[in-house]
Amino acid sequence: MIGATVAQLRRDAGTTVEPNRRGPVRLEPFLQLQNIRHHALPQLTSTAVVAHLRASGVSIEDREESDTPLTGFLYWTESARLVYVQADHLLHNRRFIVAHELGHVILHREQIGSFHTDTTVGESDTSSQPLEQEANDFATELLMPAEILQARAEELRRLCGACSRGVLAYRLAAELLVSGSAIRNRLDTLGVGDD
Ligand SMILES: [Zn+2]
Repeated sequence: MIGATVAQLRRDAGTTVEPNRRGPVRLEPFLQLQNIRHHALPQLTSTAVVAHLRASGVSIEDREESDTPLTGFLYWTESARLVYVQADHLLHNRRFIVAHELGHVILHREQIGSFHTDTTVGESDTSSQPLEQEANDFATELLMPAEILQARAEELRRLCGACSRGVLAYRLAAELLVSGSAIRNRLDTLGVGDD
């Protein structure tokens, strides 16, 4: 179901998966489609987000602020749509968090209200909370398209006569800007590459 949702989102954003093109999946077309802006804040907390929103001229209703460290934050109203990520995280982790928050927007708009905080989003995490797991699955599907993984596996097999999953994971992590453990999990799940 999430695969079909991501495929529809790609069509809506006018993008396609192009195995002949190298490089990471661009998130900007999807964020633009949903009219979402994103910011990286150091020491991300809901207190810091509320201060940033107010400084940006966004009028927000009173809300309980907290200094609990966060990895991601989604603010969603009719007039303002923003994703915040922890600035100190590595690039591949920040990209995964943005994709995770986009997943909440696409999948859970009715359930999550105006504020959604994430304390522990990680690229290779599994979550016991269904909504969090779905957002992780969405991010995985979006950032690591199966067609790209298959194409790179076939290419490696042509070049080397074999397709070690470890070598493939190393190459794909660099190309797609995802963590080694995340791409490894994805390859394991899809059964791409040799064990
Ligand atoms: Zn989440």
